[in-house]
Amino acid sequence: MPTALVTGGAGFLGSHLCDRLVERGDDVICVDNFYTGSKRNIRHLIGNNNFEVVRHDIVHPLFLEADVVYNLACPASPEAYQANPIKTIKTSTVGMVNVLGLAKRCGARLLHTSTSEVYGDPEVHPQTEDYWGHVNPIGPRSCYDEGKRVAESLCVNYAREHKMPIRMVRIFNTYGPRMDPNDGRVVSNFICQALRGEPLTVYGDGSQTRSFCFVSDLIEGILRLTAYDPPADELKEDGAAPGPVNVGNPGEFTMLELAEAVLKIVGGNSELKHLPLPTDDPKKRRPDITKARRLLDWEPQVSLEEGLKPTVEFYRERLGL
Ligand code: NAD
Ligand code: UDP
Ligand code: UDP
Repeated sequence: MPTALVTGGAGFLGSHLCDRLVERGDDVICVDNFYTGSKRNIRHLIGNNNFEVVRHDIVHPLFLEADVVYNLACPASPEAYQANPIKTIKTSTVGMVNVLGLAKRCGARLLHTSTSEVYGDPEVHPQTEDYWGHVNPIGPRSCYDEGKRVAESLCVNYAREHKMPIRMVRIFNTYGPRMDPNDGRVVSNFICQALRGEPLTVYGDGSQTRSFCFVSDLIEGILRLTAYDPPADELKEDGAAPGPVNVGNPGEFTMLELAEAVLKIVGGNSELKHLPLPTDDPKKRRPDITKARRLLDWEPQVSLEEGLKPTVEFYRERLGL
């Protein structure tokens, strides 16, 4: 079976990816510096013959052997990535170079996790992969957005120059069990607040929108994209084919609608508390998933209501309620 190296494997998405890979028999090496990840997320995998963990920071070179590399290392929540912005940039630039260097030396396939944040505060709606984005290069989100844009540039240039099979997924807001209850993202905040009977903190007037994808749908999209091979003529035209692919759920909700959906499931009588909107907070976001449908025959299966239920149960248990 192939050896899969998962950077950021102890994080929210990385741990679910490790689960799926171990389940199907891949030999999995999880590399993580535990900045936002947790041993708790992978504890159940320890002891499995197909799984090992290496504590390592990808900003430093790493020499391991792998057939497929999944690069997920990077804090994803605005609070976490802004807490240490220079480190965030280094992870997406210096770290990305190291991961590319390793994949190149091993002749490995590489799946890189990019983000809908490369579109910034988008002027095109819904967002298609050919939209170049609207990003403030010096704002508080830029350490993440611009880092991820450099990472995409590195990926396409390594793919073209070294003929490497590199796939890039642009992930839209994804939620589910194992999302850190304290990482400040809206889904975890609203659910934990509702469970504790505290007011739900709505930033701004709550009319901004996001599209929420359940974690199992996202992982399925990642696995299909990793396995995808573009037709030879397309590759000949551009060595970086098929280019980035949006993976997300096109269902679009305002934050007020999300608060309502959470309260409907959790119950209780939490009120809404409006707080200032963070600088450069994107006003709307929804993926156009035509490309994922066409190339991968992929589309999300889990609705927001269905996905929130197991997520609420996860937090109920985690908070000891
Ligand atoms: P997460 O914060 O839970 O996981 C990131 C993991 O990477 C953590 O385990 C962290 O400790 C590790 N890490 C961070 N910097 C590292 C470094 N320098 N070296 C080694 N490990 C490092 O976040 P997540 O939601 O699981 O996101 C995983 C990836 O998906 C990230 O690259 C993120 O940018 C991307 N993404 C996620 C979402 C989402 O909605 N969850 C959306 C868009 C993109
Ligand atoms: N690298 C790594 N692990 C490897 C191979 C390379 O961490 O298995 C790092 C290496 O330290 C280098 C970077 O990846 O700084 C880029 O490697 P590449 O071969 O592209 O560039 P070069 O070594 O020629 O600068
Ligand atoms: N948000 C909110 N209350 C919170 C946390 C976030 O209203 O407690 C808003 C935030 O301003 C943004 C949206 O929810 O408009 C999504 O925020 P998140 O941090 O989850 O993801 P991102 O901004 O990266 O899409």
